[in-house]
Amino acid sequence: MRLSRHFLPVLKESPADAQIISHKLMLRAGLIRQTAAGIYAWLPLGNRVLQKIAQIVREEQDRAGAIEMLMPTVQSAELWRESGRYDAYGPEMLRITDRHDREMLYGPTNEEMITTIFRDSARSYRDLPRTLYHIQWKFRDEVRPRFGIMRGREFLMKDAYSFDIDEAGARHSYNRMFVAYLNTFARMGLRAIPMQADTGPIGGDLSHEFIVLAPTGESEVFYHANWEKPAALSTVDFEDVVGLQSIVAGYTADYAATDEKRDMVSEAAAGDQLRQSRGVEVGHIFYFGEKYSKPMNLRVQGPDGAEVIPHMGSYGIGVSRLMGAIIEASHDDNGIVWPDAVAPYQVGIINMRVDDEACAKAADDLYAKLQAAGVEVIYDDRDERGGAKFATMDLIGIPWQIVIGPKGIAKGVVEVKRRATGEKVEMSVEDALAKVA
Ligand code: ATP
Ligand code: MG
Ligand code: MG
Ligand code: MG
Repeated sequence: MRLSRHFLPVLKESPADAQIISHKLMLRAGLIRQTAAGIYAWLPLGNRVLQKIAQIVREEQDRAGAIEMLMPTVQSAELWRESGRYDAYGPEMLRITDRHDREMLYGPTNEEMITTIFRDSARSYRDLPRTLYHIQWKFRDEVRPRFGIMRGREFLMKDAYSFDIDEAGARHSYNRMFVAYLNTFARMGLRAIPMQADTGPIGGDLSHEFIVLAPTGESEVFYHANWEKPAALSTVDFEDVVGLQSIVAGYTADYAATDEKRDMVSEAAAGDQLRQSRGVEVGHIFYFGEKYSKPMNLRVQGPDGAEVIPHMGSYGIGVSRLMGAIIEASHDDNGIVWPDAVAPYQVGIINMRVDDEACAKAADDLYAKLQAAGVEVIYDDRDERGGAKFATMDLIGIPWQIVIGPKGIAKGVVEVKRRATGEKVEMSVEDALAKVA
């Protein structure tokens, strides 16, 4: 993409109304614009990153055996009356009336809808286990929308729902998601810590919030220092029930809890290895048994012919919130430092002198070659000062930057800069191509 033809409205000044760094940088780098309280338009660059994040989430859901579908944003109040949640949900739900005076709502979550969809088709134990997911916009009328897309009113969520024949099956489905979540966040360069979370009336240990440490996070968290190791991907066999259980047991051995679930015995055991910090909830997984299947009358025939009520769980990831969490974790004084996996473009070309024929030719040529190689490249071909171009490339966080100037081109070299380290190396155009492609 040529910057001269792009829509990339960057801001020079830090917006006064943004309190946290990720919100400031998202506005400055032209990723988002607010259109109403807690509601944002995703500008071209922001949309690219959002799609990258969603795609990583999708790939890891698929790998864990979940099946993608797409449910609507607008739901009927009737559904929620069946589960008894319509009145209970409260003012966070955006209620809508259609022209026939029917009560509708903009979905804050989809347990009711998926339960009825599954109920209409599942007949026997052979239809179990299944985990279905979608990546869809949600609306929650938050009392205090803030920090930009971190706590928006409209936001993008991946929500998955599992159906199993019994609690043991549900635990396996839960474990699949547990490991899939850690891999998902690790691929984005994030260390997300699974923390015991409230299970409500069901009890048990099957509810975890995945928290990314950040000083501006809204949750107060306590954890063992072992969690400070960088995240690593684990290759696992998701069908291996026992193997998966032991992996999850390994992860949960080190203490980690939000302030609502603090456990003083474990904290005493952690001793001087206990850490306290703040964090951002980027995901939440939950087993809730028959909470929806029973009142909504979801039943299937078991292997012995008797009716069984499936056990369910739900699993959310804040796809749009993750963008804020990634920026909180990865930025410097000059702007965003995108991890390669979610960067809007992998390579930025800076032509220092658009009026110089040799520079323009070299830059055009490199741009064409990178495009032909399938590399996502953004090309600053604007008639601007070099300093402004450097600042923009750093602000928008492009991982590899290739600078083309008259002196270098005369010697047949360009400068390749790595955004994350600031390291700059001069090399031939061919070597630069090989390095970044
Ligand atoms: P929070 O505690 O931040 O209000 P939640 O516990 O209400 O979140 P869940 O119902 O667990 O949220 O939804 C799953 C995920 O959706 C959360 O872990 C979070 O990443 C994301 N999420 C929830 N509310 C918002 C919001 N208002 N804006 C952006 N993302 C959100
Ligand atoms: Mg909430
Ligand atoms: Mg929460
Ligand atoms: Mg939650």
